[in-house]
Amino acid sequence: MDIRSLDGKVAVVTGAGSGIGRSTALALAERGAALAVCDIDESGLAETVDTLKAMDRRVYSEKVDVAEASEMERFAVATRGALGRVDIVVNNAGIGIGGLFVEVPLEAWNRILGINIRGVVHGCHAFLPGMIEAGQGGHIVNIASMAGYCQAPGMTAYGATKFAVLGFSESLRLELEGHGIGVTAICPGVINTNIVRTSATYGINDDPEMREEGIRAFERRNYSADRVARGILKAIAKNRGVAPISPEAWAGYWLKRLFPGVVAWLGRRAAAAQRDRAA
Ligand code: NAD
Repeated sequence: MDIRSLDGKVAVVTGAGSGIGRSTALALAERGAALAVCDIDESGLAETVDTLKAMDRRVYSEKVDVAEASEMERFAVATRGALGRVDIVVNNAGIGIGGLFVEVPLEAWNRILGINIRGVVHGCHAFLPGMIEAGQGGHIVNIASMAGYCQAPGMTAYGATKFAVLGFSESLRLELEGHGIGVTAICPGVINTNIVRTSATYGINDDPEMREEGIRAFERRNYSADRVARGILKAIAKNRGVAPISPEAWAGYWLKRLFPGVVAWLGRRAAAAQRDRAA
Protein backbone atom coordinates (compact mmCIF):
# COMPACT_ATOMS: atom_id res chain seq x y z
CA MET A 1 0.00 0.00 0.00
CA ASP A 2 1.27 3.47 -0.83
CA ILE A 3 1.41 5.14 2.58
CA ARG A 4 3.13 8.38 1.58
CA SER A 5 -0.27 10.05 1.90
CA LEU A 6 -3.19 8.44 3.71
CA ASP A 7 -5.54 11.36 3.00
CA GLY A 8 -9.07 10.00 2.59
CA LYS A 9 -8.12 6.65 4.14
CA VAL A 10 -9.36 5.24 7.45
CA ALA A 11 -7.24 3.26 9.92
CA VAL A 12 -8.43 1.31 12.95
CA VAL A 13 -6.16 0.75 15.97
CA THR A 14 -7.08 -1.38 19.00
CA GLY A 15 -5.39 -0.76 22.35
CA ALA A 16 -4.71 2.82 21.22
CA GLY A 17 -4.70 4.24 24.75
CA SER A 18 -1.02 3.54 25.42
CA GLY A 19 2.34 2.43 24.03
CA ILE A 20 2.62 0.97 20.55
CA GLY A 21 -1.11 1.42 19.80
CA ARG A 22 -1.07 5.13 20.61
CA SER A 23 2.16 5.77 18.68
CA THR A 24 0.82 3.87 15.66
CA ALA A 25 -2.46 5.79 15.66
CA LEU A 26 -0.54 9.10 15.75
CA ALA A 27 1.88 7.97 13.00
CA LEU A 28 -1.03 6.99 10.73
CA ALA A 29 -2.75 10.31 11.48
CA GLU A 30 0.45 12.19 10.59
CA ARG A 31 0.17 10.68 7.10
CA GLY A 32 -3.38 12.01 6.86
CA ALA A 33 -5.55 9.03 7.85
CA ALA A 34 -8.79 9.36 9.80
CA LEU A 35 -8.69 7.10 12.85
CA ALA A 36 -11.06 4.73 14.64
CA VAL A 37 -9.47 3.92 17.98
CA CYS A 38 -10.54 1.75 20.89
CA ASP A 39 -9.20 0.61 24.25
CA ILE A 40 -10.53 -0.84 27.47
CA ASP A 41 -8.82 2.03 29.35
CA GLU A 42 -11.01 5.09 28.81
CA SER A 43 -8.62 7.70 30.22
CA GLY A 44 -5.67 6.54 28.09
CA LEU A 45 -7.95 6.45 25.07
CA ALA A 46 -9.20 9.99 25.77
CA GLU A 47 -5.59 11.28 25.75
CA THR A 48 -4.96 9.68 22.36
CA VAL A 49 -8.22 11.11 20.99
CA ASP A 50 -7.33 14.62 22.21
CA THR A 51 -3.97 14.43 20.42
CA LEU A 52 -5.59 13.15 17.21
CA LYS A 53 -8.16 15.97 17.32
CA ALA A 54 -5.39 18.51 17.89
CA MET A 55 -3.90 17.19 14.63
CA ASP A 56 -7.23 18.04 12.98
CA ARG A 57 -8.05 14.43 12.11
CA ARG A 58 -11.48 12.84 11.93
CA VAL A 59 -11.71 10.41 14.86
CA TYR A 60 -14.16 7.79 16.05
CA SER A 61 -13.45 6.26 19.46
CA GLU A 62 -15.13 3.73 21.69
CA LYS A 63 -14.40 1.78 24.86
CA VAL A 64 -14.07 -1.81 23.59
CA ASP A 65 -12.89 -5.01 25.22
CA VAL A 66 -11.33 -6.83 22.25
CA ALA A 67 -11.95 -10.17 23.97
CA GLU A 68 -15.70 -9.64 23.48
CA ALA A 69 -16.75 -10.42 19.91
CA SER A 70 -20.01 -8.47 20.21
CA GLU A 71 -18.17 -5.30 21.30
CA MET A 72 -15.80 -5.55 18.35
CA GLU A 73 -18.69 -6.12 15.91
CA ARG A 74 -20.46 -3.04 17.32
CA PHE A 75 -17.25 -1.02 16.97
CA ALA A 76 -16.84 -2.10 13.34
CA VAL A 77 -20.42 -1.12 12.44
CA ALA A 78 -20.06 2.23 14.23
CA THR A 79 -16.70 2.91 12.55
CA ARG A 80 -18.20 2.43 9.09
CA GLY A 81 -21.14 4.65 10.09
CA ALA A 82 -18.87 7.41 11.37
CA LEU A 83 -15.96 7.31 8.91
CA GLY A 84 -17.45 5.55 5.86
CA ARG A 85 -14.70 3.05 5.02
CA VAL A 86 -11.81 1.03 6.49
CA ASP A 87 -8.40 0.63 4.84
CA ILE A 88 -6.01 -0.43 7.62
CA VAL A 89 -6.70 -2.43 10.79
CA VAL A 90 -4.03 -2.66 13.48
CA ASN A 91 -4.88 -5.41 15.98
CA ASN A 92 -2.56 -4.21 18.73
CA ALA A 93 -4.33 -4.59 22.10
CA GLY A 94 -2.52 -7.12 24.22
CA ILE A 95 -1.41 -8.00 27.73
CA GLY A 96 1.56 -9.81 29.25
CA ILE A 97 1.70 -12.56 31.87
CA GLY A 98 4.76 -13.74 33.77
CA GLY A 99 4.74 -17.12 35.48
CA LEU A 100 5.81 -20.74 35.22
CA PHE A 101 3.19 -22.91 33.52
CA VAL A 102 2.29 -24.84 36.69
CA GLU A 103 1.86 -21.57 38.63
CA VAL A 104 -0.41 -19.70 36.20
CA PRO A 105 -4.11 -20.32 36.96
CA LEU A 106 -6.41 -21.29 34.11
CA GLU A 107 -8.41 -18.05 34.55
CA ALA A 108 -5.26 -16.11 33.67
CA TRP A 109 -4.71 -18.36 30.64
CA ASN A 110 -8.28 -17.71 29.52
CA ARG A 111 -7.82 -13.96 29.96
CA ILE A 112 -4.67 -13.77 27.83
CA LEU A 113 -6.07 -16.16 25.19
CA GLY A 114 -9.17 -13.94 25.04
CA ILE A 115 -7.27 -10.69 24.54
CA ASN A 116 -4.11 -11.66 22.65
CA ILE A 117 -5.57 -14.30 20.32
CA ARG A 118 -9.34 -13.94 20.20
CA GLY A 119 -8.94 -10.13 20.20
CA VAL A 120 -6.95 -10.36 16.96
CA VAL A 121 -9.42 -12.83 15.47
CA HIS A 122 -12.36 -10.60 16.48
CA GLY A 123 -10.72 -7.55 14.87
CA CYS A 124 -10.21 -9.41 11.59
CA HIS A 125 -13.66 -11.02 11.70
CA ALA A 126 -15.44 -7.73 12.31
CA PHE A 127 -13.64 -5.56 9.76
CA LEU A 128 -12.56 -7.87 6.92
CA PRO A 129 -15.91 -8.69 5.28
CA GLY A 130 -16.57 -4.97 4.70
CA MET A 131 -13.04 -4.42 3.36
CA ILE A 132 -13.38 -7.35 0.96
CA GLU A 133 -16.81 -6.20 -0.18
CA ALA A 134 -15.55 -2.64 -0.78
CA GLY A 135 -12.91 -4.11 -3.12
CA GLN A 136 -10.44 -1.29 -2.39
CA GLY A 137 -7.69 -3.45 -0.91
CA GLY A 138 -6.09 -2.53 2.39
CA HIS A 139 -3.85 -3.89 5.11
CA ILE A 140 -4.20 -5.90 8.32
CA VAL A 141 -1.47 -5.49 10.94
CA ASN A 142 -1.42 -7.99 13.80
CA ILE A 143 0.97 -7.27 16.67
CA ALA A 144 2.73 -10.51 17.58
CA SER A 145 6.16 -10.37 19.25
CA MET A 146 9.68 -11.70 19.18
CA ALA A 147 8.09 -14.14 21.68
CA GLY A 148 6.18 -15.43 18.63
CA TYR A 149 9.29 -17.30 17.47
CA CYS A 150 11.73 -17.40 20.43
CA GLN A 151 10.75 -19.37 23.52
CA ALA A 152 11.50 -18.22 27.09
CA PRO A 153 10.80 -19.62 30.57
CA GLY A 154 7.97 -18.00 32.52
CA MET A 155 6.29 -17.05 29.26
CA THR A 156 4.32 -20.13 28.19
CA ALA A 157 1.04 -18.22 28.08
CA TYR A 158 2.34 -15.06 26.41
CA GLY A 159 4.51 -17.03 23.98
CA ALA A 160 1.63 -19.34 23.05
CA THR A 161 -0.54 -16.35 22.14
CA LYS A 162 2.17 -14.70 20.04
CA PHE A 163 3.09 -17.93 18.19
CA ALA A 164 -0.65 -18.18 17.43
CA VAL A 165 -0.88 -14.59 16.13
CA LEU A 166 2.11 -15.20 13.85
CA GLY A 167 0.70 -18.45 12.43
CA PHE A 168 -2.79 -16.98 12.05
CA SER A 169 -1.38 -13.95 10.20
CA GLU A 170 0.74 -16.01 7.80
CA SER A 171 -2.26 -18.13 6.86
CA LEU A 172 -4.62 -15.15 6.56
CA ARG A 173 -2.10 -13.41 4.29
CA LEU A 174 -2.40 -16.25 1.77
CA GLU A 175 -6.19 -16.01 1.79
CA LEU A 176 -6.34 -12.23 1.33
CA GLU A 177 -3.70 -11.74 -1.35
CA GLY A 178 -6.29 -12.11 -4.10
CA HIS A 179 -8.31 -9.27 -2.55
CA GLY A 180 -5.36 -6.88 -2.55
CA ILE A 181 -5.32 -6.90 1.26
CA GLY A 182 -1.88 -7.35 2.82
CA VAL A 183 -1.32 -8.96 6.21
CA THR A 184 1.69 -8.31 8.43
CA ALA A 185 2.66 -9.89 11.75
CA ILE A 186 4.75 -7.32 13.63
CA CYS A 187 7.29 -8.86 16.01
CA PRO A 188 8.77 -6.23 18.34
CA GLY A 189 11.61 -7.00 20.76
CA VAL A 190 12.00 -5.15 24.07
CA ILE A 191 9.96 -1.95 23.82
CA ASN A 192 9.72 0.67 26.54
CA THR A 193 5.95 0.81 27.20
CA ASN A 194 3.67 0.16 30.17
CA ILE A 195 3.45 -3.58 29.50
CA VAL A 196 5.85 -4.76 32.24
CA ARG A 197 4.14 -2.49 34.81
CA THR A 198 0.70 -3.90 34.01
CA SER A 199 1.50 -7.59 33.35
CA ALA A 200 -0.03 -10.03 35.83
CA THR A 201 2.61 -12.22 37.50
CA TYR A 202 2.36 -15.54 39.33
CA GLY A 203 4.50 -17.78 41.56
CA ILE A 204 8.23 -17.09 41.52
CA ASN A 205 7.66 -14.35 38.94
CA ASP A 206 5.32 -12.51 41.32
CA ASP A 207 8.12 -10.56 42.94
CA PRO A 208 8.08 -6.73 43.14
CA GLU A 209 11.88 -6.62 42.93
CA MET A 210 11.84 -8.71 39.75
CA ARG A 211 9.19 -6.42 38.25
CA GLU A 212 11.27 -3.34 39.09
CA GLU A 213 14.32 -4.97 37.48
CA GLY A 214 12.22 -5.71 34.39
CA ILE A 215 10.95 -2.13 34.19
CA ARG A 216 14.49 -0.78 34.56
CA ALA A 217 15.81 -3.18 31.90
CA PHE A 218 13.09 -2.01 29.45
CA GLU A 219 13.89 1.64 30.30
CA ARG A 220 17.63 1.09 29.80
CA ARG A 221 16.94 -0.62 26.45
CA ASN A 222 15.02 2.56 25.62
CA TYR A 223 13.52 1.41 22.30
CA SER A 224 10.43 3.60 21.94
CA ALA A 225 6.91 2.85 20.78
CA ASP A 226 7.34 5.65 18.21
CA ARG A 227 10.15 3.66 16.55
CA VAL A 228 7.88 0.61 16.44
CA ALA A 229 5.18 2.75 14.80
CA ARG A 230 7.66 3.84 12.12
CA GLY A 231 8.51 0.15 11.56
CA ILE A 232 4.81 -0.67 11.22
CA LEU A 233 4.34 2.00 8.53
CA LYS A 234 7.37 0.67 6.64
CA ALA A 235 6.07 -2.92 6.87
CA ILE A 236 2.70 -1.81 5.44
CA ALA A 237 4.44 0.07 2.60
CA LYS A 238 6.56 -2.97 1.73
CA ASN A 239 3.74 -5.46 2.41
CA ARG A 240 5.98 -7.58 4.63
CA GLY A 241 4.52 -10.87 5.91
CA VAL A 242 6.59 -10.91 9.10
CA ALA A 243 8.34 -7.81 10.42
CA PRO A 244 10.72 -8.14 13.38
CA ILE A 245 11.25 -4.70 14.95
CA SER A 246 14.43 -3.79 16.88
CA PRO A 247 17.89 -5.41 16.63
CA GLU A 248 17.17 -8.10 19.27
CA ALA A 249 13.99 -9.12 17.43
CA TRP A 250 15.98 -9.50 14.18
CA ALA A 251 18.76 -11.38 15.99
CA GLY A 252 16.23 -13.82 17.48
CA TYR A 253 14.53 -14.22 14.09
CA TRP A 254 17.73 -15.30 12.32
CA LEU A 255 19.18 -17.25 15.26
CA LYS A 256 16.00 -19.32 15.48
CA ARG A 257 16.23 -20.12 11.76
CA LEU A 258 19.97 -20.68 11.43
CA PHE A 259 21.02 -21.82 14.92
CA PRO A 260 17.92 -23.04 16.83
CA GLY A 261 20.22 -24.84 19.29
CA VAL A 262 21.60 -21.47 20.42
CA VAL A 263 18.11 -20.16 21.15
CA ALA A 264 17.31 -23.34 23.11
CA TRP A 265 20.61 -23.00 25.04
CA LEU A 266 19.85 -19.36 25.93
CA GLY A 267 16.38 -20.46 27.08
CA ARG A 268 17.84 -23.21 29.30
CA ARG A 269 20.26 -20.71 30.84
CA ALA A 270 17.40 -18.30 31.59
CA ALA A 271 15.36 -21.15 33.13
CA ALA A 272 18.33 -22.17 35.33
CA ALA A 273 18.76 -18.55 36.47
CA GLN A 274 15.06 -18.43 37.41
CA ARG A 275 15.40 -21.69 39.40
CA ASP A 276 18.50 -20.36 41.24
CA ARG A 277 16.66 -17.18 42.10
CA ALA A 278 13.67 -19.09 43.48
CA ALA A 279 15.88 -21.46 45.55
P1 NAD B 1 0.76 -1.14 26.68
O1 NAD B 1 0.36 -1.80 27.96
O2 NAD B 1 1.48 0.15 26.74
O3 NAD B 1 -0.51 -0.96 25.73
C1 NAD B 1 -1.48 -1.97 25.56
C2 NAD B 1 -2.85 -1.31 25.41
O4 NAD B 1 -3.82 -2.36 25.17
C3 NAD B 1 -3.27 -0.58 26.69
O5 NAD B 1 -3.76 0.72 26.39
C4 NAD B 1 -4.39 -1.47 27.25
O6 NAD B 1 -5.37 -0.76 28.00
C5 NAD B 1 -4.96 -2.06 25.97
N1 NAD B 1 -5.73 -3.28 26.25
C6 NAD B 1 -5.40 -4.29 27.10
N2 NAD B 1 -6.39 -5.19 27.14
C7 NAD B 1 -7.37 -4.75 26.31
C8 NAD B 1 -8.64 -5.25 25.94
N3 NAD B 1 -9.13 -6.39 26.47
N4 NAD B 1 -9.37 -4.54 25.05
C9 NAD B 1 -8.91 -3.37 24.54
N5 NAD B 1 -7.73 -2.83 24.87
C10 NAD B 1 -6.96 -3.53 25.75
O7 NAD B 1 1.64 -2.24 25.93
P2 NAD B 1 2.38 -2.24 24.51
O8 NAD B 1 3.75 -2.69 24.77
O9 NAD B 1 2.12 -1.01 23.74
O10 NAD B 1 1.61 -3.48 23.83
C11 NAD B 1 0.96 -3.40 22.58
C12 NAD B 1 1.12 -4.72 21.86
O11 NAD B 1 2.51 -4.93 21.57
C13 NAD B 1 0.66 -5.94 22.67
O12 NAD B 1 0.00 -6.84 21.82
C14 NAD B 1 1.98 -6.54 23.14
O13 NAD B 1 1.87 -7.92 23.41
C15 NAD B 1 2.87 -6.24 21.96
N6 NAD B 1 4.30 -6.29 22.22
C16 NAD B 1 4.89 -5.46 23.14
C17 NAD B 1 6.26 -5.54 23.37
C18 NAD B 1 6.97 -4.69 24.40
O14 NAD B 1 8.15 -4.97 24.69
N7 NAD B 1 6.37 -3.63 24.91
C19 NAD B 1 7.03 -6.47 22.65
C20 NAD B 1 6.42 -7.28 21.72
C21 NAD B 1 5.05 -7.17 21.51
